[in-house]
Amino acid sequence: SQNNFDYDLIVIGAGYGGFDAAKHAADHGLRTAIIEKGDMGGTCVNRGCVPSKALLAASGKVRELSDAGHLAQFGIKTSGHSFDRQAIANHANQLVANIRENLTKTLERAGVSILRGEGRMQGSQQVALRQLDGIERLLTAKDVVLASGSDPFVPPGITTDGSTVFTSDDAIKLESLPPWLAIIGSGYIGLEFADVYTALGCEVTMIEALDRVMPTFDPDIAKLAARKLIDGRDIETKVGVFASKVVPGNPVRIELIDANSKELVEVLEVDAVLVATGRVPTSKDLNLAAVGVETNRGFIPVDDQMRVLANAEPVPHLWAVGDVTGKMMLAHTAAAQGAVAVDNILGHQRQIDYRSIPAATFTHPEISSVGLSEVEAKALAVEAGFELGTVRSYFKANSKALAELESDGIMKLLFNKGTGEVLGAHIYGLHAADLIQEVANAVARRLSVKQLANEVHTHPTLSEVVEVAYKQAAMAVAG
Ligand code: FAD
Repeated sequence: SQNNFDYDLIVIGAGYGGFDAAKHAADHGLRTAIIEKGDMGGTCVNRGCVPSKALLAASGKVRELSDAGHLAQFGIKTSGHSFDRQAIANHANQLVANIRENLTKTLERAGVSILRGEGRMQGSQQVALRQLDGIERLLTAKDVVLASGSDPFVPPGITTDGSTVFTSDDAIKLESLPPWLAIIGSGYIGLEFADVYTALGCEVTMIEALDRVMPTFDPDIAKLAARKLIDGRDIETKVGVFASKVVPGNPVRIELIDANSKELVEVLEVDAVLVATGRVPTSKDLNLAAVGVETNRGFIPVDDQMRVLANAEPVPHLWAVGDVTGKMMLAHTAAAQGAVAVDNILGHQRQIDYRSIPAATFTHPEISSVGLSEVEAKALAVEAGFELGTVRSYFKANSKALAELESDGIMKLLFNKGTGEVLGAHIYGLHAADLIQEVANAVARRLSVKQLANEVHTHPTLSEVVEVAYKQAAMAVAG
């Protein structure tokens, strides 16, 4: 492609969203540059998915060894075990370094120019780069993809110091094991860290402002999962309260306020606090005013082709992907959006299909979902005039789960009783994060449970939990 621009495409931010966009563009012959001010790989690789899964893997093994009762059911006796906190942290650090290096090399091999520094919009098709050495350069590109990601949200009244009051950015470093850790927020990040820290011997208190723990999960799934993941781990919960004030120190003092009456109900003094109250978009330094774009509380408005919108109209040659768009803030969503943006740049009309994108929480056992929640499915059924079908399939009826002595689990499948179309699924149980993929593929292809019920699953595998759900659902579909 020949034009007078420095690049065909400039991507700002090298997280998974930016990575996929840049790689895909270079693979298709676009002259591509990616600008990154911090570590290559962004949140997921450096302080998100990758290190958290390494910590969960290690702490999961510690938990297994600590559960003498569970091991005894297999006829196994162990004579004590120990772990080294720093060595576990090193395992995560090493993994992060490997993956970061692979990703950087992959971009280099694809021919992407990696520019280190901060990028911001200077005007249409113009990006200002402030290099790490302070030198400013003005770059032009036919298209620009914004992939600047997100940062932890810290509510007002809470001050972090990185050691006694911290966010996931620090929790991931496993620099200490506070005897008593309070976790503010019971979303997936709070839950995963609760899993890690309780396995390594910390006592955890979980604080949730809404009226139940795990408010972002399907209520039936949350109820069952909480029995094991919260009650089973002796995690004390404080529900319907929020921390109005948290001050670093020893001890850390937390003032808990009733979410409704706004009265002070309790003061906790703990060793450390993890603030896991969501994430905010990283967009204020992008100088979006230069291209006439107004954010929505920092989130960049986009359409389903990933075009940036200004006053509801697409801005020519400007695209945004990943957490900064606020749509399902997950690594694989960011990557999928990156590919969709570049396909549109290449002239192939493509839209993102959020309904078929799965999500998972990597606790022991895992929780996963795809498609609509039951509330959303009910609303759709009323609106579109069809009858909603719901079936449940249980891990306790699954041979593999029973063999593993891990039969605590359930799958809930939502479908259209008229057409059989799969609308959503919610799973709690062993390897739920892997199991959901099969349903995600069915949702993506808008398949009917009538077709799916005939697909043969290997015996004995956990995937038969899904097969049972499909078969039950097929019986409920007319015709
Ligand atoms: P990011 O990964 O945030 O990357 C954005 C990059 O842009 C950063 O490197 C930043 O330095 C750079 N940048 C920003 N502004 C500029 C600028 N002006 N100039 C140059 N560079 C800039 N998701 C999953 O799917 N699975 C998981 O298991 C999972 N676990 C998680 C665990 C934790 C603890 C956390 C915090 C997150 C987790 N996530 C997980 C979410 C996942 O990390 C994010 O959804 C994903 O990283 C988003 O990718 P992104 O490319 O949009 O942005």
